[in-house]
Amino acid sequence: MIYNASSMMMYLILIGPTILLGMLAQWWVQSAYQKMSQVPARISGHDAARRILDANGLYDVPIEPSHGVMSDHYDPSSKVVRLSHDVYYGHSMSAVGIAAHEVGHALQDARGYAPLVVRNLAVPVANFGGSLASAIISLGVFLMIFGMFKLASWALLLAVIGFAAVVVFQLVNLPVEFNASSRAKDQLLSQGIVSSSELPYVSSVLTAAAMTYVAGTFSSVMNLIYYVLQYAMVSDRDG
Ligand SMILES: [Zn+2]
Repeated sequence: MIYNASSMMMYLILIGPTILLGMLAQWWVQSAYQKMSQVPARISGHDAARRILDANGLYDVPIEPSHGVMSDHYDPSSKVVRLSHDVYYGHSMSAVGIAAHEVGHALQDARGYAPLVVRNLAVPVANFGGSLASAIISLGVFLMIFGMFKLASWALLLAVIGFAAVVVFQLVNLPVEFNASSRAKDQLLSQGIVSSSELPYVSSVLTAAAMTYVAGTFSSVMNLIYYVLQYAMVSDRDG
């Protein structure tokens, strides 16, 4: 919500660094992924995922190829592991690492891992909160231009609540992601898919991927702080 020079300044100071950090995290994960795509693995991402699922009794969780680069995910509603083309067919440290990470989410689901349960509950709330907040911010700017500060402060309060829902989701999501990666590494080792000397290769991809979640969370927190400050300023002006 940028409506004058001081709000522009505040936006640049609080949000600017998060945009740079997000770009840096994206660059990092892409470069780690590319580098580890050159290091061969004994089996494909699909075969690694299948072996880990079967070893844990999850014979009925299917693995499907999905479209799009880095579109890998586990779908808890239909209980399916979906792997992007390069991961599904690839015989590399990147492929087996990412495949095992997605299976890590399937294992969390099968074991009733509490943070995953909370995360799944928080997804619709956070999606609604995020879209509501974005829509309301535009309305808020419009109200400010016409000097309707009372209404604008209510709009900002709603936006703050929406952004807070996003922050809660992101914070719950972090342990879920770190835990899926640590399960992935344990399983890759215990199933003999990677050796202990190859494990650092897998780790470098998974750590870089986790940093994108950390950067995303940092960005959400800074956005929330920004809008809380804006709300404080506008309601102060309202008197
Ligand atoms: Zn994940």
